[in-house]
Amino acid sequence: MIEKTKASESNPITPSSIQDLETMIRTCKRCPLSKSRTYAVPGVGPENAKILLLGEAPGKDEDISGKPFVGRSGKILDQCLAEARIDRSCVFITNVVKCRPPQNRNPNAEETAACGPYLRAQLEMIDPKVVCLLGNVATKAVLGMVGVTSLHGQVFEGRFLVTFHPSAILRNRNLKPAFVSDLLAAKEMADRM
Ligand code: URA
Repeated sequence: MIEKTKASESNPITPSSIQDLETMIRTCKRCPLSKSRTYAVPGVGPENAKILLLGEAPGKDEDISGKPFVGRSGKILDQCLAEARIDRSCVFITNVVKCRPPQNRNPNAEETAACGPYLRAQLEMIDPKVVCLLGNVATKAVLGMVGVTSLHGQVFEGRFLVTFHPSAILRNRNLKPAFVSDLLAAKEMADRM
């Protein structure tokens, strides 16, 4: 899970609190994305959240605001969370990569590895009951698998629930009921645990 590389192992992080971790991410210079970003986007939500939503990387609106999922993908995510009766303020929302890749391309292996220690620390410190992996980038980074269309709705390692990325719903509205149903399953799992 979340591959460790020589670089991340020789450069471990030891945050003393979630606020300390946030500061580390905001001031990070571990990869070239730190040069092109406006703001790094550590994530938002309560540190005792039962559900963590894991996206891919910040887009333009997130880069400008320093907050995750505030643009078009964020708006459709909000609608789907509301339909699943999930209060956005109760979930922790973050991304595999904390800085915007130029032109919104997928994050590369170097960028994903550089951010790996931050994601590992967030998962350890928040220790959510359920982690919703939003799309193939998150699913690959955490589970080493791709193929969200066939994997969605499945739970791995007791807490990683694979589902669609909100941008996929924007491209194909027919996927929305399945996405909402996956979110409902996440809520039921979190309530049960
Ligand atoms: N897409 C993502 O994966 N994350 C965001 O924060 C915004 C858009």
